[in-house]
Amino acid sequence: MSTVAPSTPENLASTRTFEVVNPANGLPFADAPDCTDEELDAAVARAARAFTSWRVDDDARRQYLRAAASALRASTEDLAPIITREQGKTVGDSRLEIQSAIEWFEHFAEIDDPVLVIHDDAIARVEVHRRPLGPVAAITPWNFPIALAIWKIAPALRAGNTVVLKPSPYTPLSSLKLVEILAPVLPEGVLNVVTGRDPLGAKLASHPGIRKISFTGSTATGKRVAAAAADDLKRVTLELGGNDPAIVLDDADPQAVATGIFWSAMANSGQICMAVKRLYVPRSLAGPIVDVLAANAQFARVGDGFEEGVNLGPINNAPQFERVTRLVQDALDGGARAVTGGLPESRAGYFFEPTVLVDVRDDMPVVAEEQFGPVLPVLVYDDLDEAVARANDSKYGLGSSVWTSDPARGAAVAARIEAGTTWINGHLQVAPYQPFGGVKWSGLGTENGLDGLHEFSNIHVIRAPGSAR
Ligand code: NAD
Repeated sequence: MSTVAPSTPENLASTRTFEVVNPANGLPFADAPDCTDEELDAAVARAARAFTSWRVDDDARRQYLRAAASALRASTEDLAPIITREQGKTVGDSRLEIQSAIEWFEHFAEIDDPVLVIHDDAIARVEVHRRPLGPVAAITPWNFPIALAIWKIAPALRAGNTVVLKPSPYTPLSSLKLVEILAPVLPEGVLNVVTGRDPLGAKLASHPGIRKISFTGSTATGKRVAAAAADDLKRVTLELGGNDPAIVLDDADPQAVATGIFWSAMANSGQICMAVKRLYVPRSLAGPIVDVLAANAQFARVGDGFEEGVNLGPINNAPQFERVTRLVQDALDGGARAVTGGLPESRAGYFFEPTVLVDVRDDMPVVAEEQFGPVLPVLVYDDLDEAVARANDSKYGLGSSVWTSDPARGAAVAARIEAGTTWINGHLQVAPYQPFGGVKWSGLGTENGLDGLHEFSNIHVIRAPGSAR
């Protein structure tokens, strides 16, 4: 149907398809294969066959990951428009997403993970080895379809596993293209893709040939994945929803902090699991901070991600658009005021202006629930202990931040926040060497860094008699 659609892998010859919609106009523009059970079985079987030789040679795997990084770099201009067409973000942001994926491959190619000798004396020598698990499922959401896939694929492959990738039904084409780009540089069967609607994810998660599920998505689905994994005691990593608080301390300079906070809430049109979702400001600074937030909104240009000058694309899909609209409507009905943005006027494309809400209360759903849109509720506090307690009063615990002129004070407040990550004078910054994960309803386990790599292996202890024997 479309010139930007990738060719379908030969092994996904499904005659069943589903439509992929362009969020900039709400219209279908391509079809993706809706995999059958047989195609899923075949993908898992290919991953199992490839595992036998892939698991053996770590140096070879490093080389393959370097080659994957190069292939992705060379194909950036092919892949970026596919991300933009199906996800909505600007082409510039799609390129940045691919760039980060390249960095992830390069990092996991170089990371060292030696055998640990934890005890070596006359009595015993104890070594801790890491063994790959087998075929792993990588199940991904629609907000960063390539970056979040590579967060799983790069460490999984480096650790010696093979992968079956199942992207979101809203963004399947970029994953199909990714596998097409990497197929020539990876051994057959090491990286596989299946596309389909949500039930395909459920089938993959409960497939007996899968040894681990690395899942990124909503908390509701994550709980189902954990339940599906229980039967076979599959390993799971769950990167789930967030409702990140940002706390501004009373020593902060509003000019210095509010711009960073605004864009940490609105980047990718708020569709980032660790975007700022609740802003706590001291009463003394509330006015100036809201002024700077509103001033930043003038620099937002919402539109089709292919259009020159646009810096925020649409919300990705209709249910998400309706949800954000409903949450903002509910807040406005309850007495909140939009100092910028507000309810969208047109629905011919899921465009939503950055919206800063004041006069909000903690119990409003726009504050209490994960809203995953370009909306920032500003909440006033009188006492720092109260602010920390309100920030922690959430089912979620993914990211968080403290904004201050006093780094020591910032660190002391950061230590009291219940979250996987707390940034000081920042938010959103991630790196392949930096472990990432959530607490409470935000997830289970860790991605990235050595900890993330270790999630793709089992510990195997070898204990032998020591030097006295
Ligand atoms: P989702 O849970 O609806 O879907 C995620 C993936 O799971 C999709 O591929 C989907 O097809 C699949 N799926 C659906 N039902 C399944 C089932 N029963 N078993 C297995 N797989 C199933 O999430 P979404 O709407 O695509 O993504 C948005 C959510 O993702 C938000 O909650 C956001 O916070 C979260 N997210 C979290 C992180 C993180 O790192 N913590 C990062 C990005 C997004």
